[in-house]
Amino acid sequence: MFDTHTHLYDAMFENSQEIIGKCLEKINLLLMPGDNYSNSLKALELSESFKNVYCAVGLHPLEVKEDYQREIEKIIDLCSNAKIKAIGEIGLDYYWIKDERERKRQREAFILQIQKANSVKLPIIIHDRDAHEDTYQILKQYPPLYGGVLHCYSGSLEMMEKFLSLGLYIGLDGPVTFKNAKTPKEVAAKVPLNRLLVETDSPYLSPEPKRGQRNDSLNLKYIIKAIADIRGLNEQELADITEQNGRRFFGIE
Ligand SMILES: [Zn+2]
Repeated sequence: MFDTHTHLYDAMFENSQEIIGKCLEKINLLLMPGDNYSNSLKALELSESFKNVYCAVGLHPLEVKEDYQREIEKIIDLCSNAKIKAIGEIGLDYYWIKDERERKRQREAFILQIQKANSVKLPIIIHDRDAHEDTYQILKQYPPLYGGVLHCYSGSLEMMEKFLSLGLYIGLDGPVTFKNAKTPKEVAAKVPLNRLLVETDSPYLSPEPKRGQRNDSLNLKYIIKAIADIRGLNEQELADITEQNGRRFFGIE
């Protein structure tokens, strides 16, 4: 099993070292994305103490402030470290941000980070909340040359086809286990198996039967089981397929 998106450095975990150690008893690989410079650094430092833990560094759309260019420079300067396997999470969040000036700044920071990812030869982890069309247009115009994943994909099936046609991967999380979540289940049924990544996005978005509680990577099994049931595969098969996909996507042997 490979949890390709987990924030185990989050302050909701009193002891990150301990929880990571516990998760690694069951999960083969973990990847922790950052959302600003200081969290990227935290993710990097933690990943350095564990063989099978990797990280991504990036400026999340909700962290984009006026001085975003300086913050992105600092983040990109970390990238010579071999533990860093992607730039992320980056993208657009129109759910929380309604102001058009701020949305424009999000788009600029997103484009800049795609260009930086291309220059340091890393794939990107994309956060897209209620901004599917603009996300798609930017990715089409500024292709991430080393790949990209739509993390916690929440769009329609039609939109998924458009993202797949750009060569992108689809990341699925806890919502696929929710009883009333129709679209994530449809996506799970249709996504090509070689483009699927699984992730917990912990500490948020706990899957059933842990919904509402603090999430950690040990809950990845519930997400894998839900998708395996939809696809008529056994859990081990799906765990192996998604682990291989993650290794290929992030360039981990
Ligand atoms: Zn995240």
